[in-house]
Amino acid sequence: MDILPILYKNYSNNSPVSYFCSISNGTSILESPIEFLKGVGPQRGELLRQELEISTFEDLLHHYPYRYFDRTQLMRINDINNTTEYAQIAGTLINVAEEGGGRAKRLVATLYDDSGRIQLLWFQGAQWMKKSLREGERYIVFGKVSVFNGYYNIAHPEIELWNADTAIAGRQPVYSTTEKLRIKGITNRSFAKLTAALFEKVRPADVPEVFPDQLLKQYNLCNRYTAIRGVHFPENDAHEQAARYRLKWEELFISQLMIARLRQQHTAQQGWKFEKVGDNFNNFFKLHLPFELTGAQKRVLKEIRQDAGSGKQMNRLLQGDVGSGKTIVAVMSMLLALDNGFQACIMAPTEILAQQHFFSISQLLGDMGISVKLLTGTVKGKARKEILQQLADGSLQIAVGTHALIEESVQFKNLGLAVIDEQHRFGVGQRARLWKKNEIPPHVLVMTATPIPRTLAMTLYGDLDVSNLDELPPGRKEIKTVHRRDAARAGVMEFLRKEVDIGRQVYIVYPLIEESEKMDYESLMAGYEQVKIWFNENKYRIAMVHGRQEAGERERNMQRFVKGEADVLVATTVIEVGVNVPNASVMLIESAERFGLSQLHQLRGRVGRGADQSYCILLTGNKVSDESYKRIQIMVSTTDGFKIAEQDLAMRGPGDIYGTRQSGEFKFKLADIVADGAILEQTRHAALQLIAQDPALTLPQHRGIKDMLKQQNRQSHWGKIS
Ligand code: ADP
Ligand code: MG
Repeated sequence: MDILPILYKNYSNNSPVSYFCSISNGTSILESPIEFLKGVGPQRGELLRQELEISTFEDLLHHYPYRYFDRTQLMRINDINNTTEYAQIAGTLINVAEEGGGRAKRLVATLYDDSGRIQLLWFQGAQWMKKSLREGERYIVFGKVSVFNGYYNIAHPEIELWNADTAIAGRQPVYSTTEKLRIKGITNRSFAKLTAALFEKVRPADVPEVFPDQLLKQYNLCNRYTAIRGVHFPENDAHEQAARYRLKWEELFISQLMIARLRQQHTAQQGWKFEKVGDNFNNFFKLHLPFELTGAQKRVLKEIRQDAGSGKQMNRLLQGDVGSGKTIVAVMSMLLALDNGFQACIMAPTEILAQQHFFSISQLLGDMGISVKLLTGTVKGKARKEILQQLADGSLQIAVGTHALIEESVQFKNLGLAVIDEQHRFGVGQRARLWKKNEIPPHVLVMTATPIPRTLAMTLYGDLDVSNLDELPPGRKEIKTVHRRDAARAGVMEFLRKEVDIGRQVYIVYPLIEESEKMDYESLMAGYEQVKIWFNENKYRIAMVHGRQEAGERERNMQRFVKGEADVLVATTVIEVGVNVPNASVMLIESAERFGLSQLHQLRGRVGRGADQSYCILLTGNKVSDESYKRIQIMVSTTDGFKIAEQDLAMRGPGDIYGTRQSGEFKFKLADIVADGAILEQTRHAALQLIAQDPALTLPQHRGIKDMLKQQNRQSHWGKIS
């Protein structure tokens, strides 16, 4: 059964997925191997293939420049001042010399024009640079201007021989290349030459239009050849802008179309019908619900009931900021599945989180007589066998677990609902395996605490229906967030002690992004020793959890804190998601400058879960970089997850948002989903309209789009998992 969208792509390398494809009939010149291009040949061809995955004419056509040298836009060196960020200058190169030694070794050169001189610097690749630079020659140089010892300089500039006779008229495109290619003589400039040679061969007819005329007109797009030509060799600003606009539009449109098609497929998928609300749901609601549901929780439950009762498969994303109460929504949805004779499961990305869910769900359901069990990788032997048996014969009603739940050996009798918590940690392939568990796929509720900016949501989750838990449970006080530097540590610890003295619990979190990092591990241990001194070990109870502990030990320590048997929890980011200890009032984050915004937000969400005042203290070194400072200030200024997510996206770009654990991301060649949000909205609209008008893309004028989509699906492994 193939249903699940591959929202995330797994790249084996960093090269972006090409959003372009040939619409050829198999004889297109664009399919010619790259070595056949004038100036390439077998050796360079092989290199281009290895380094940049350029293996055909077409690939080179889509290797776009990232900027242009415009020889008319030169700055005089003397005009560089404090406000100059980037400068393009031309002049004569002299005094090329290596300076310093060891790690500080660098290559230095001077460029002068008739107004003044400036230093150029290379810290990497100095050897090779030195060989390739020619003293006394005229160069054109571009780069970021900085100041050192009172003098302006440009480090790692782009530099090209002026070489007026071979200069391409007007602007010269600048292409990304690699160290290895450069060493073999394929420089930015060679790319410009190769691309110029390519355009000698490639005619407008070789790059046929894929969009119908009507679409071009409606959205004011130039044709495809003009666009591709214009992005390499723009005749003027207007040409360049039109070209980029068209190509960005195309990239975003295709992505939105793929999403729209997935959505179309979801909606057509038959699903289990949860027709009734029965005893489990009703009893729980009347007798076990520990609080009044918020309006948002009620609304979302209604949305889920409607979906699940429709006879179609539900694919719903439940988005709710940390602490908004997603767990109870999941529990009640699972009860609904039980009422209709189905099993349900909830999956979490980490062992600790699964355990925590198991613990709180068991507690919530109390003596209702529902069988709930935990299945994680550490459940082995007889216990595991028993759970598997009960899942297969249907006697186990709710399974709580990690990835272990979707292993081949795990078979459900009739899985009706799968809840996936903290979705961005859960690989797509893993989620997809769920589908093999049943004839008809279970309803899927994906819960995420990471608020996603609208533009990103459109791109990542455009195929899912979205529910928002946009209301926090009543009586919550805003978490007070402060930034403190190392120098103020004593005061911070004093504050933590006072909180513990009035009966609260505190978290102290250390960065340990990858559990294997030795330095982090050592600083955690050193921190732990210090905490034992700050907090008198005999008086206060301290627990520690981290990823290197054996799972049982980690769990015992965690439970001590959860049950209130420990006052202080020294931890790594293993506690980042989901952990729920309402009595905890302080989250102290050590080396906060090393965390990303969404991680900080997640961590902060571990406190403020009860009615009392809570605090988040971001402890940093005495000196922090501008960028880190900016992040810290955002955290101090707002607790609104959406605002933080927007800022995060703006600061880091979508690729980084989910951090290193998350393999997938969208990579567009030209489009930027933040800066090009307006185009994205347009393309989404256009894609939906197209699908509504011609669902299977069978109309002749949609042929080009259809082919492009097909190829895209193939290339990006993006379509579906079967
Ligand atoms: P998250 O959305 O971050 O997973 P949880 O489901 O863990 O949030 O809920 C956070 C805390 O709020 C828990 O202690 C939970 O018991 C409590 N809670 C959830 N819903 C309500 C409500 N309607 N009223 C009061 N407390 C609630
Ligand atoms: Mg949660």
